[in-house]
Amino acid sequence: MIDKALQIVAPHHCYGCGSKQALLCDNCKYDITSNQFYGCIGCGRPAPDGICTRCQSGFSRAWCIGERSGELEALINGYKFERKKASSVVCVDLLQLVLPELPRDICIVPVPTIRRHIRQRGYDHTALVAKGLAKRRSLTYRQALRRITSSVQLGATRAQRIEQAKQAFECTTSLAEQTVLLVDDVTTTGATLEYAATELRKAGAKDVWAAVIARQPLEKHV
Ligand SMILES: [Zn+2]
Ligand SMILES: [Zn+2]
Repeated sequence: MIDKALQIVAPHHCYGCGSKQALLCDNCKYDITSNQFYGCIGCGRPAPDGICTRCQSGFSRAWCIGERSGELEALINGYKFERKKASSVVCVDLLQLVLPELPRDICIVPVPTIRRHIRQRGYDHTALVAKGLAKRRSLTYRQALRRITSSVQLGATRAQRIEQAKQAFECTTSLAEQTVLLVDDVTTTGATLEYAATELRKAGAKDVWAAVIARQPLEKHV
């Protein structure tokens, strides 16, 4: 309600250039995706498939729009802290630009958001992005993962994050012979994706790939 009312009185301004038309104009979208992050989403080292052999575990390929900085950071902060629900559409646009053509039988699964964050924001942003992407590409969307713990990762050490992620999810459905594209918003160590992917594989998934909005290296956490 409040969000809708605010959108009427205050039209969106582009996070990049300030032009009065959208949360992110087409030029600024292009600027972001032309600086796409091509390294390993776990450690940042060069990796053609988005994940290096050292970090590789539950998922075998990954795509990431960019590092969490500049306009991409503003976009993320917008939906995390300012209830800018419309940013999910922009995230879908950006993922559209960085993802290759996907197999017709792939299924798109969001990494579940911590319940408290959904309550605070009034929506599950990652689910909206995953659903939007599935719709745009005419692919199957499934909310196959459920969160069973709700530890907040902010500020935790790498070792703590890996421990927390180990028991964070369960898969609620069979995924026999399916290739799954896991969608997450921000990744730091890749631990959440890794354990989410492990659960999907236990449920029968034959391969798991990951699409992430932004990467935020652990050393950049404050
Ligand atoms: Zn712009
Ligand atoms: Zn790596």
